Amino acid sequence: MRCAKYKKQIDLMQDGALDQASTAKLQAHLDECIKCRAYQQQALKLRELMLSAPRPQVPSWLHHQILHQCKAHEPKRLKVRKKFRLQLVPATLAILLSFVLGSLLGVTGFQISALSSKVASEQVQEITFFGESTLVEDSFFGGGNSE
Ligand SMILES: [Zn+2]
Repeated sequence: MRCAKYKKQIDLMQDGALDQASTAKLQAHLDECIKCRAYQQQALKLRELMLSAPRPQVPSWLHHQILHQCKAHEPKRLKVRKKFRLQLVPATLAILLSFVLGSLLGVTGFQISALSSKVASEQVQEITFFGESTLVEDSFFGGGNSE
């Protein structure tokens, strides 16, 4: 595994989201790789800094204001949702229409091909009949005619 993947695993390990087998592999790599050890030290320092930073106190009116804006935005969101559902109707109809037209075209094409093959087989019969009557008879009897 490359160091970039181990660095991701270092982050996961600090969050407590790395399984034991991967942790053991990572520890073995950390024993050998100086760069990854340095990365781990920096990540630990950053984590300690983040945890030691003072948390900002949020005024209570801000919470109420955010909730009020969410309530005001809700009808707008529902309207957009309805609009999206209405757009689904013509899209569904278009898909259904394409299926119907496609199947009709398929049926028509099959009938045409069946007809043409029927006609072709009849033509073959005619040709053979024509060939039998003319080529055989004419060549023999027509050629034998002395006029
Ligand atoms: Zn490494």
